[in-house]
Parts: sequence; C-alpha cells; structure tokens
Amino acid sequence: IAFLFIETSLIIMLWIQIKKRRQAEIKTRKSEERYTLAVRGSTDGLWDWKTLSGEVFYSDRFKELIGYSPDEFPGTFDSFRDHLHPEDLDATLKAIEQHHQERVPYDVEYRLRTKRGEYKWFRARGQAIWDEHGKVLRMAGSIQDINERKQMGKKSQSLRDELNHMSRVLSMGEIAASLAHEINQPLTAIRSYAQAAQRLLARDTPDLHEVDKILTGIVTGNRRAEAVIQRIRMLMKNEQSERSLIDVKTFIKEVASLLRKNIEEHNISLRLELDANLPQVFGDRVQLQQVVLNLILNGLEAINAGGDGLRELVVRASKDAVDVVTISVQDSGIGIHEENKDRIFDAFFSTKSQGMGMGLSISRSIIEEHGGRLWVTQNPVQGATFSFTVPIHKEDLI
Ligand code: ADP
Repeated sequence: IAFLFIETSLIIMLWIQIKKRRQAEIKTRKSEERYTLAVRGSTDGLWDWKTLSGEVFYSDRFKELIGYSPDEFPGTFDSFRDHLHPEDLDATLKAIEQHHQERVPYDVEYRLRTKRGEYKWFRARGQAIWDEHGKVLRMAGSIQDINERKQMGKKSQSLRDELNHMSRVLSMGEIAASLAHEINQPLTAIRSYAQAAQRLLARDTPDLHEVDKILTGIVTGNRRAEAVIQRIRMLMKNEQSERSLIDVKTFIKEVASLLRKNIEEHNISLRLELDANLPQVFGDRVQLQQVVLNLILNGLEAINAGGDGLRELVVRASKDAVDVVTISVQDSGIGIHEENKDRIFDAFFSTKSQGMGMGLSISRSIIEEHGGRLWVTQNPVQGATFSFTVPIHKEDLI
C-alpha cells in the first residue's frame, strides 16, 4: 500500500509539474504573441541588440522607416552605426555608454541616413539587461519618427528669428531720429574742433599745444560716434540667441539713453527706479533690450493717445522673488480695455491704425523662452503697467 501510495503521489507530482510547465509555455506563447502583435502594430521601429555577439534584430518597421525592405539592412550593430549622422555619432555612443555604465535612461534624438541617402530624425529609447556582475547582456528599444516635428520646430524658430529681426528693424525706424541726433552731436563737435584748428594754424606762430588739445577732442568725438554706430549695428544684426550674464541696470539704461531724445520730444518724463544690488540675469541682452524697447514705445504711444494729463513713464527693476528679477514699464496712457486684456498678446492684434500687432507677441515669446513671464496690469489711476520676470543665473541661487 505504501508503494502504491508513493507511486500515486509521484504521478500526481509529475502531473502537477507537467501542468505547471504547460501553463508556463502558454504564458510565454501568449506573451510572445503579444510581443509580435506589438511589434507589428507599433509605428515605432524596434531593435534588440545582443551586445556580446554584436548581433541586432531590427524589426521590419525599423527598416521600413529608413527605406529598406525586410531582407535588407544587415542585423549588426555596425549597420546602425554606419547609418548614423556623423554629427550625432559621438553623442549617441556616449548615451549608450552612460546607460550601460551608470544606468542613465537611454533617450536620445539622432538622424539616420535613409536608403535614398537623406537624413531623418528619430527619437530612440531603450533598456539594457545586466547580469549579476553588472555586465550588459542585451539592450532593446525603439525608434520613433520625429522628422516632421523637428522640421516644424526649425521652421517656427526661423520664422520667429525673422519676426524678431523685422520688429527690431521696425523699431529702428522709430528710434532713427534719436540716433541721428546722437551721431550729429559728436559730428558737430568734430567740425567745430577742426575749424578751430584751422584758425589756429592760420596764425603766424600756431600754438601747437592748443592744436594737440583740439586733436584730442576730435578723437573723443569720433569715438562717441563710433559707439553709437556700433549700437545700431547690434540692433540690426539678425543673429541667433546668445545668452550670457547681464547687468540689468546697464541694459535698461542703454535702452533709456537710446530713446531719451524721442521721449523728451513728446514732452514725457522717463524715470528709472532700479534697485541697488540687483543680481545679474541670464539671457540674451539684445533680445531683452528689444522687449524693454517695445514696452517703452508702446507706453509712449499710449500716453500720446491719451491727450492731456500726466505724461510719465517709469521703468522699475527689483528682485521680488528668490530666483527672478522683475522689470516693469508703467505708463500714464489710455490703459487697456478689459475685453482686450488677453488679446493684446496675440500676434497681429492691434488697435492702432499703423500697428503691426507683433510687439507684445514677440516680447512674450522672448520672455517665455528665457523662462520668465510677461503680463499686464491696469494702474489704479491711469494707464497700464507691463511687467516681466527674468531668471537670475543659477550661480546666484547657490
Ligand atoms: P502694436 O503696438 O503694433 O499695436 P503690440 O503687440 O505691441 O502691437 O500691441 C498690441 C496692442 O496692445 C496695441 O495695439 C494696444 O491696443 C495694446 N497696448 C500695448 N501696449 C499698451 C499700453 N502701454 N497701453 C495701452 N494699450 C497697449
């Protein structure tokens, strides 16, 4: 009986084992089916790299994304490497290395050469499998076609650059008068110095010491004129964003001096209230100056549209929060209708007969790109105040 019992329990154990194995098999098959379905259904291309042998499985979709048929594109790491854009090669290899060594998530963007020879943008993500010694056995992942997004991004960036440039050039028209005045001053000085020198030299015994002083005056005048021209050049340049640490006071004062003549001519007083000990901000000086310039010119137009009353512009800069500097331009103009409050930041929205409606929209995009905010508030008595924030450099946070 004991024997029979042992035999029965053996059979039962065996049966349980077989059943377990079968269940496991079904499970694997199911997950394999699911995997195959996922591979087929996904619009992403999939890859599975046996790092030890260098063999790589590339899904048909992977090959299709770069223009190859299923029997083309050899299953090796080298074929991937050979199709990478030379400029993306180093960064991609480094990302793989960092994922393997430090387990930093692998998520990169690179260009692959298609069969036709052109490059397309992809986003690749993947995950390695390590053995118990930390050695990489396998790495698998996907590539996603992001070519369209990349192209769009490029287009909107260049459109923005163009608009930005255009608005700089447009504002140039408005400040040309004040610049002409600024250049005229040193030129007039140079002419009178030169005439004085001519008079001196016409004497029988010219005082060379006096002539020398006059020549020094000419050189100084020349330098001043050059500095103004340099500022014009800077505003006209259509260059890419260039960020650095900048001194808030200096960049605001530069804009103010550029516009001073213009503002005075309109019988408006411009007051600067810049806090002492302002930290530097991190940004593109020309772009930030462009924003302040737009806000001041808008304020000036709003005051001119308002008729009589207070004619005052106040530019303030203060550090109200830990990590930002707030700059505001307050005017005593006509203010903003409640119903327009949100629309004024839209591109091409303008209530002016000659308005382009681009100033505020460009300004807002510049500030947002700097990681700040631009908003407007109605003044209690008269006019509007536009304020924006610019993050201070990380170094200031430490
Ligand atoms: P534009 O000045 O060419 O109209 P903006 O984008 O700079 O373009 O301004 C859009 C609109 O916002 C203006 O037409 C005006 O109605 C309103 N606006 C801007 N600044 C002020 C301001 N300081 N006071 C009152 N309204 C303003």
